[in-house]
Amino acid sequence: MALDPGIVPEGRRTFMQEVIAATPGGDPHLELCLQCGTCGGSCPSGPDMDHTPRQLFAMIAAGMREDVLKSNTPWFCVSCYYCVVRCPQEIHITDIMYTLKRMAIEEGYYRESSAAEAPDFSETFIDFVEHYGRSFELGLATRYHLKHHPLGMLKMAGMGLNMLIKGRMDLKPTRIEHLDQLQAILQKAKELEGKD
Ligand code: SF4
Ligand code: SF4
Repeated sequence: MALDPGIVPEGRRTFMQEVIAATPGGDPHLELCLQCGTCGGSCPSGPDMDHTPRQLFAMIAAGMREDVLKSNTPWFCVSCYYCVVRCPQEIHITDIMYTLKRMAIEEGYYRESSAAEAPDFSETFIDFVEHYGRSFELGLATRYHLKHHPLGMLKMAGMGLNMLIKGRMDLKPTRIEHLDQLQAILQKAKELEGKD
């Protein structure tokens, strides 16, 4: 039996309908979830997640907005699409995870999840990609640890030094060729998302 999208109070959408409407790329078919659990069984991040994707979708159907948006599950999704390939209902699970991340940031609930630092980490990553066209591991780790775990820097220093000596990590960021083209694409994406 598929999930029940819930009763619609007059003039208002259920939480499930909100999630569906906020997910780009067409109907993600969330209401077709059979609760079979194949997604959770396929997920490499499952052990770290507060809830499996199946549980999260049942919570969405039950209108448990706060619990869903405080869950660390979407933040541990690494977008491998393994669940999407195996889902018998072809539900756009990964896209829904992105939607839940956006909603958690917009409504501030991410701060109450065990992955509260994740948006900051991804913003730092995006910042490097926008300015250099690629990630810069040393800068990413340094900025993140200085802001959130300054003492952790000491523990990481030895490993970082080894990676530098072995040439596995760059000392300074390098720009890709034709960065202007990538920046134009990112700008267009922002415009399409209505962020600029
Ligand atoms: S695999 Fe698909 S149908 Fe099964 S629980 Fe996950 S989302 Fe629902
Ligand atoms: S896309 Fe996300 S939820 Fe799906 S299997 Fe990969 S990590 Fe898990």
